[in-house]
Amino acid sequence: MAVRQKNTADVLIIGAGPAGITASIYALRAGLSVIVLDGNFYGGQAAITSQIENYPAIRSISGAVFAQQLYQQAIDLKADIRFEEVISVDFAQKMKLVTTAKHSYAAKAVIVANGVKRRLLHCSGEKELTGKGVSYCATCDGMFFRDKNVIMVGGGNTALEDALFLSNQCESVLLVHRRDTFSAEKALVDAVMARKNITIMYNSQVTKINGRHKVTSVNIYNSAQQETISTPIDGVFIAIGYAPDNHIVSDFLEMSPEGYLLASENCHTKIEGVFVAGDTRTKPLRQIITACADGAVAAVAANSYVLKQIDF
Ligand code: NAP
Repeated sequence: MAVRQKNTADVLIIGAGPAGITASIYALRAGLSVIVLDGNFYGGQAAITSQIENYPAIRSISGAVFAQQLYQQAIDLKADIRFEEVISVDFAQKMKLVTTAKHSYAAKAVIVANGVKRRLLHCSGEKELTGKGVSYCATCDGMFFRDKNVIMVGGGNTALEDALFLSNQCESVLLVHRRDTFSAEKALVDAVMARKNITIMYNSQVTKINGRHKVTSVNIYNSAQQETISTPIDGVFIAIGYAPDNHIVSDFLEMSPEGYLLASENCHTKIEGVFVAGDTRTKPLRQIITACADGAVAAVAANSYVLKQIDF
């Protein structure tokens, strides 16, 4: 006999990344009933990070293992994590409503921890050749380019980490960055500079990705030389950052001009019972540890809110 799942909870958490899962761990340990919803997978961006080396007390761990352990820790506490994409919310009433393509949910409190979405290059050929040589995840797709020549686009921590990861299995990596300096950590920049099979092209933008059924070459514009070159290539990896996508809550929550959600130090929003945690909010540093910290703070705030509500 099919078991009917309950669609109500003390706290509903949108997002199963480090912020959302940490929030679920804290809320469950506080004795609240919790449902976590995520349209994709657990672990968020951490799950597709090659190696994490700046999380205190964990000297080095692959992103996939980190995500799995985070998930397992919540599951051990009997977390109810469901892979359903949230399509709308209604925070107008005291009982908050959240709708996915499959179900409607009601909760006393909601923690929005929906993270950010990856940025696209928006150049010709990118969309058509995604999955045919264009990738946004070196750890997922790197193995398909063993002994091949690839391009890595971007100048932040992800691009440099991924360039190093790819250089271990690819014949060569051409790192294309639009500025003349990287924004990545110095340790990563030094490691990339020391790697023999990584070549750096500064002041350069990929303007076109060519190929019919798979990537064959790219056009790169160099702003210092003011010229475009065409380079034969097997794969194009893109890691140019992330941007918020908060349209589902935009009728209810305040946002910065860039689209990040506004919340106080303790993760409160203008709406009582709605909290915000992780990369989706305005903050000076977006890291796994700051996302986890937000998750803990938001869950404690949600618990204190739920305990005060005697008329639900
Ligand atoms: P990021 O730090 O935002 O860097 C994005 C990079 O892409 C920048 O070099 C940026 O160049 C470039 N870029 C943006 N739009 C572009 C476009 N349209 N065309 C070409 N280049 C473009 O993104 P991230 O590296 O994915 O990192 C995201 C967050 O996660 C950061 O806070 C980062 O510190 C964190 N992270 C941390 C670690 C770690 O600590 N080990 C690892 C990975 C990620 P400009 O500088 O010109 O804007």
